[in-house]
Amino acid sequence: QQLPIDRDEQNYVRTVTGACFSRLQPTPVENPTLVAHSKSALSLLDIDPDKESIDSFVEYFSGNKVLPGSEPAAHCYCGHQFGYFSGQLGDGAAIYLGEVINGKGERWELQLKGAGKTPYSRTADGRKVLRSSIREFLCSEAMYNLGVPTTRAGSCITSDSRVVRDIFYSGNPIEERCTIVSRIAPTFIRFGSFEIFKTRDQQTARQGPSLGRQDIKQQLVEYCISTFFPEIYAKEIPLLEKTREFYREVVRSTAVLVSHWQTVGFCHGVLNTDNMSIMGLTIDYGPFGFMDHYDPDFICNGSDDGGRYKFSSQPEICGWNLRKLAEALDPVLPLSEGQLVIKEEYMRVYEREYITKMRSKLGLLQEMEGDLELVNTLLDTMHRTFADFTNTFRNLNLMLVPGVEGFEASKIACLNKILSQCSTIDELKKVSTPKMDPRQMELILQLMQQSPQFADERMISKVKSELDKINSHKDLGKMNQEQKQEEDSALWCAWLDKYSERLRMETGSDSTSINTARISVMNRNNPIMVLRNYVAQAAIEAAEKGDYTEVNKVLELLQQPYSQPADTVVTPEAATPHISNNYSER
Ligand code: AMP
Ligand code: MG
Ligand code: MG
Repeated sequence: QQLPIDRDEQNYVRTVTGACFSRLQPTPVENPTLVAHSKSALSLLDIDPDKESIDSFVEYFSGNKVLPGSEPAAHCYCGHQFGYFSGQLGDGAAIYLGEVINGKGERWELQLKGAGKTPYSRTADGRKVLRSSIREFLCSEAMYNLGVPTTRAGSCITSDSRVVRDIFYSGNPIEERCTIVSRIAPTFIRFGSFEIFKTRDQQTARQGPSLGRQDIKQQLVEYCISTFFPEIYAKEIPLLEKTREFYREVVRSTAVLVSHWQTVGFCHGVLNTDNMSIMGLTIDYGPFGFMDHYDPDFICNGSDDGGRYKFSSQPEICGWNLRKLAEALDPVLPLSEGQLVIKEEYMRVYEREYITKMRSKLGLLQEMEGDLELVNTLLDTMHRTFADFTNTFRNLNLMLVPGVEGFEASKIACLNKILSQCSTIDELKKVSTPKMDPRQMELILQLMQQSPQFADERMISKVKSELDKINSHKDLGKMNQEQKQEEDSALWCAWLDKYSERLRMETGSDSTSINTARISVMNRNNPIMVLRNYVAQAAIEAAEKGDYTEVNKVLELLQQPYSQPADTVVTPEAATPHISNNYSER
């Protein structure tokens, strides 16, 4: 056993060994209060809180009472965080309540996040606060409604119990309300769940709790295959073959998942192996972010200095994580065989899914050569003009509605709409205003590079990326809004011409009915609404004051992200853009 160095003789945080989970009870909270619930998520459990006593619902879903038949437990897992093995790190914050088999015969796991300390909480308290819980609750449901594979959120319940959190942006430790989110998924088993069995030679940092326990590892593998992939388990083939099929499914579903993220502009932010689901679900909503203006270097995690988890790196990082899973599965599935599966499947599936989704977003009904280039030029144009990712895609359908004035008029309508949603010079200046004089920064960077004893790689790369950002926006200061608009307009005209040429290549004689089909495909693949940061932030601020109507309004809007809501919409124009979410979740 490895004990913390600073342990007290009598009281210390013990590392749990030889276990995948520990039984325990949730810790009750004072005066639990419902913030919001998702009817559709709870229906998976055949629960309709509107038909039950709301008080008793809140008691059970806050962890104050335990459902009959439930045997709560905490699941123990390890993980690679930011590229390094960190040993045992989860689950100190979520408690498994059990599994429900619903009326349709589906099995759903139910857990409470933030329900108090577990044997794996180490020095933390196992609690979550209102702001991080609202983000997780809203985004889980938003992603589901966008059609992105995800864990679900059934309820968000706050309380009068308090914990102290240190908020990045206020700088002061303040007391916040303990809040509990109920989460639902086929399973919450992650890549990191298999990393607890790594042997001593595979471990680089802290040891896992079940060091080298190949026997338990094999049991867990068999449990996963038989429970979540029964078709594979039923085959009359050796366990090695079954494990390969299982791993192939994990690789494929992960590739599909990332293709969804890249086509809705979602950045996860903490793609550590402990946040990678074996079912290919988006799991753990921490510092995630949907991009406003398209930026391949978009980073949403304030502590990701090197940009390891930036938007454009997600496909590569998930591939890296899959390799770590292959290492963890060895020797149940020999490493070389796992690696072969990644090579055969991962990029192939990812690229196929990505281009297929992009074609739908552009309303292209046939596959043609050069489509990927058309997409890449579109993204580059968005990047150079600071165009809004979500809205640009949604507005492309205007190209297919030729009014009485014909094609040229629809192109102008589309162009104007897109241009109106490119960031203005003033907005850009606001985000690109350096905190420090760039010349001073250059100097510091030089010093750091010359004397590495004063700076680590993370610091150097942070300063570098800050400088890159400033340099890339350097000319903005000299430009005025009209000049920018002129440049943007020229870039967009060039791309829209290419696009319309491509559209014509697949249009036969009957363009009207083809365009109707295209528009319907596009509108089903280009959302009107995503959970923008400032939308979540506004709902959080109201909720902190005890008003939960905004959370519920946002939830309702996000339930139909592809269709125009009847009345009020939270439009990007109406809100202040670019509110950073540089706060830690814990
Ligand atoms: P994350 O970076 O959010 O994936 O968190 C990694 C792990 O840190 C989780 O699996 C938990 O075990 C642990 N953790 C996060 N927040 C808390 C908390 N408030 N109390 C105890 N453990 C936590
Ligand atoms: Mg996590
Ligand atoms: Mg988290």
